[in-house]
Amino acid sequence: MSGPFLLGLSLSGRRVVAVGGGPVTARRVADLLAEGAAVEVVSPELCPALTASLSERTTLSWTPRRYAGARDLDGAFLVHTATGDPETDRRVAADAEARHTFCVSAGDAAAGSAQVPARAAVPTPAGEVRVAVHAGGDPRRAAGIRTDLADHLTGGVVDLRARRPHGGWVALVGAGPGEEQLLTRRATTLLAAADVVVADRLVPQAVLARLPETVRVVDVGKQPQHHPVPQEEINRILVEEARRGQGVVRLKGGDPYVLGRGGEERAACEEAGVPVEVVPGITSAVSVPAAAGIPVTHRGLARGFTVVTGHEELPGLPTGTDHTLVVLMGVAGLRETASRLVAAGRPEACPVGIVERGWTAEQRVTLGTLADIAGRAEQVGVTSPAVVVVGDVVTLAHGWAEQGEGAGGPGPSADAAASDDVSERSTRHLAAHAVA
Ligand code: SAH
Repeated sequence: MSGPFLLGLSLSGRRVVAVGGGPVTARRVADLLAEGAAVEVVSPELCPALTASLSERTTLSWTPRRYAGARDLDGAFLVHTATGDPETDRRVAADAEARHTFCVSAGDAAAGSAQVPARAAVPTPAGEVRVAVHAGGDPRRAAGIRTDLADHLTGGVVDLRARRPHGGWVALVGAGPGEEQLLTRRATTLLAAADVVVADRLVPQAVLARLPETVRVVDVGKQPQHHPVPQEEINRILVEEARRGQGVVRLKGGDPYVLGRGGEERAACEEAGVPVEVVPGITSAVSVPAAAGIPVTHRGLARGFTVVTGHEELPGLPTGTDHTLVVLMGVAGLRETASRLVAAGRPEACPVGIVERGWTAEQRVTLGTLADIAGRAEQVGVTSPAVVVVGDVVTLAHGWAEQGEGAGGPGPSADAAASDDVSERSTRHLAAHAVA
């Protein structure tokens, strides 16, 4: 015998009778209610989950008694039975059959005229994609395959782009610090659903390279000291493309809401009435120090951290070396920042680490103190993008101890070659990560 005919039922507003009040019924009833069905449960007792949804959902009703015969099924489009008593389940199924109503028998799937496949839904801005799996009547096998298929669907392997005109949308997606594997699952799903990708300079190039040719990539990358596409123009592009019915992923380095103007882009979309979703990303503020072995907090070394830009005045920041400062966009103003921090009361010996191009094959780490970091950075030619970390946690960086001065860190006498050594070690460390 072949398997059941897999069919999509529109249950909205339609009556479903569920006989039995246990956990199996509860799970199915929750699904049926989510689809908009009007469900009546026939059972002398209800399990806690059903009792709870009875008080929350107006579309659920309860007849508190045993199944009394075919009359209980009046008006039902679908019947579900899970009483725990095979005899009752058989009676319900037979009564449903006699009145030409499909019936799911949870205890003995083959005994019912309908079966519930293993299901999964992947939300995309242009509509949910659903899969249903039936696997030779083996529900566990079906559930396993369903899970694998759902992973496949969300993993960016399956093209989820809409094939006919639909309402446009924008997703502000954090791409993480530069390593493709640090993209979130939601980011890969949305990239597979996007018609247009509006990308920053700092997004992983491998991610863009992977996009099919039909996807338009708009590069609005900002170079330091040089803003090729002004923010207002980016906002305008997002809104305009979405209004043309395009699915737009605005792919941003790190996290969209950390010094990334994501809030402004969201507001622009909302003002224009364009649906917008924001997908967090792994921010460079935390992950780039981590790539060099630096935790932004560490028991005994730092209880908190502050993220600032190198363009700011840095007023009122904690001056203790046990409070970590993470400076983004801080390369150009490094000397200025260091001397201001010292002027504000940070000790000159406060450790500083600069991590350039974190999580890429070109990662390089330069270590020093507030007193000498600017000179060291100039010596090795530090360039943007880089994260500058200031505080005692920098002593946990890979290679800190090997720099000659032990706990005191690299003294002003340590030469640039020492820094280069550390860089290489850190890069190897990263490569090991990438392979693992
Ligand atoms: N929204 C981003 C930050 C944007 S500001 C985030 O959450 O990460 C841009 C700054 O981020 C750069 O100037 C640099 O300081 C830092 N940055 C981003 N990616 C980096 C990387 N891979 N390595 C080093 N610094 C990085």
